[in-house]
Amino acid sequence: VTLAMVIVPSRDHVGSYAELKTRIDEEIGSINGRYSTMNWTPVCYFYHGFSFEELAAMYFIADIALVTPLRDGMNLVAKEYVAVKQDNPGVLVLSEMAGAAVELTDALLVNPNDTEQIENAICRALEMPFEEQQERMHRMQSIVSVQTVNKWAADFVNEWQEVAHKNKTMLFKKIGSQNMQEIQHQYLHAKKRLILLDYDGTLVPFQKRPEDASPTPQLLDTLQKLTADPLNHVVINSGRDHFTLEKWLGALPLSFAAEHGAFYKENGVWHKNVHGQEWSPGLLSILKLFVSKTPRSHLEVKETALAWHYREADAWLGRLRAQQLVNSLISICLKQNLQIMQGNKVIEIKSPEFTKGSEVNRLLLATRYDFILAIGDDTTDDDMFKAVPVTAVTVKIGTASESARYNLPVQTDTLPFLQRLTDESMVKAALKSGLKGQLSSAIDFFKRIINH
Ligand SMILES: [Mg+2]
Repeated sequence: VTLAMVIVPSRDHVGSYAELKTRIDEEIGSINGRYSTMNWTPVCYFYHGFSFEELAAMYFIADIALVTPLRDGMNLVAKEYVAVKQDNPGVLVLSEMAGAAVELTDALLVNPNDTEQIENAICRALEMPFEEQQERMHRMQSIVSVQTVNKWAADFVNEWQEVAHKNKTMLFKKIGSQNMQEIQHQYLHAKKRLILLDYDGTLVPFQKRPEDASPTPQLLDTLQKLTADPLNHVVINSGRDHFTLEKWLGALPLSFAAEHGAFYKENGVWHKNVHGQEWSPGLLSILKLFVSKTPRSHLEVKETALAWHYREADAWLGRLRAQQLVNSLISICLKQNLQIMQGNKVIEIKSPEFTKGSEVNRLLLATRYDFILAIGDDTTDDDMFKAVPVTAVTVKIGTASESARYNLPVQTDTLPFLQRLTDESMVKAALKSGLKGQLSSAIDFFKRIINH
């Protein structure tokens, strides 16, 4: 076995680069000094570039390519190795921190900080049967041949256009003074109101540690005012566990749906929709593995759900791990009939029987409401938006949602919005000014006709 190590000189006038080069030179010198024989050198070290043809030839004969960047946007070497191989298989050992790892899943993926894992991957690559090498290489070649730079550019432009389109719909859905007046009007003239409020990201901003997101005095005051009106039935519809919701808000005359509808509280009594879930050791071990692989992520074991939180983890690594986690959960969750939900910096696993929408269905069957308001910030709130009639006032916080009629761009808009509903003098003033506005535009209209 010979390691051909190619380093193309770059920025060698930078102090830290020069220092690193010295360390590499010394390390290779010491390995070669110790292990070389008359006719074998373990590390062939090249500190210069090669022509593309020379490089391609080197890739073609290499049995293994070891590509282990600590972080890399894509990594071309990995793709070039695969492309050059044709029918002469080999094994790609690739850092999972390289962007290309998302596509080249048939490579042996390694954490570049874990030397033991790299060691094992090299051994596995050396011992891999020819057929397996060939299969993996063919699958990777079919991906590399399709994912060309032109395809990438076209995808990029398409996504750009989609974002622009979404921005337009968001502007259209954003609650302005006209919409606000209409909502206030409906609110004021209703006889029985259902108010559904998500908690995290809607009533309170996200905190690095979920346990720090306790209600602010302003929130408690707003909820107090909302619940003081006997026409209002106010429900906190959250993914949180019911102990925390009870501790923070239990003193208020609110109803609750906790853990995505698995629990609900009505007339001061908690009810449970599902029996305690037994989590299989296989499932737990996958989640624990991801906790150990992702610094500052943690596992929350709720009575009816498992939640892997990565808000505090490095943003880039968190996103990568979230995708990897979902991929490794799919088959086991399918087998055990569990649902995987991707929320805001959290992946949850739960029974598909209950969602934020199932609790809304139960409420709508029990009572007739002539005004329904639902506010939420997450994809899981879409279930709630879909469960209410189309005439309901559905408000998505953050980016607009197709399932919600309205949008408020930031979380800090929520409390002022609710306050404008509860403050009767503001409602009446707004309605009056709305009427005044309509009246003056009608007068203008007639004046124009008369002048004409
Ligand atoms: Mg939320």
